[in-house]
Amino acid sequence: MRIQYKKIPEDLLRSLPDGMKFLMVKGQQFLVVLEVACPEGHSLMDEDVRIHGEPSIRIKVDAGKSSGHLFVDPFWGGHSKLYDFVPVMGARQKVLSVSCPVCGTSLMEKSACRTDACGAGDAFVLHLPGGKNKIHVCARLGCPGHHLEVLDMPLKLSDELDQIHYFQTYEDEIFGGI
Ligand SMILES: [Zn+2]
Ligand SMILES: [Zn+2]
Repeated sequence: MRIQYKKIPEDLLRSLPDGMKFLMVKGQQFLVVLEVACPEGHSLMDEDVRIHGEPSIRIKVDAGKSSGHLFVDPFWGGHSKLYDFVPVMGARQKVLSVSCPVCGTSLMEKSACRTDACGAGDAFVLHLPGGKNKIHVCARLGCPGHHLEVLDMPLKLSDELDQIHYFQTYEDEIFGGI
């Protein structure tokens, strides 16, 4: 996949859900997660651990023989991650088990990843404010699959958003020094 900036669709200006915001970085517009929670309502945002200057999304992760916290990039399509442990995955296990770091409620769901050639059937869910809108993230280690589910958002728009990915090289270019 080529690394290139993908413009945020203009239509999103009219249907941006609560819990997400637009942010300009060096003249380019990005979509950033502002607030997500577990099903019990505990905020998953971590003000202290920032990625590209914004609060990260903190989740509890069981990765085979080890467990700890994973801090996820709040930039939509960004794939930076920070760990406070070393994930030791078994040879066969490639799927993370994700839960709320506050109450331990599982965030896992059965849902097929839409990314080509992934085929994972496990994802984790981040709840946007209001209880209806959600972000689904593929739980297979290394897969960039993610899907924004917003009530009343046209399917075409949500498909376009699912296709936005920025990879590390590109991130370093635009976010260098942050
Ligand atoms: Zn919780
Ligand atoms: Zn996947």
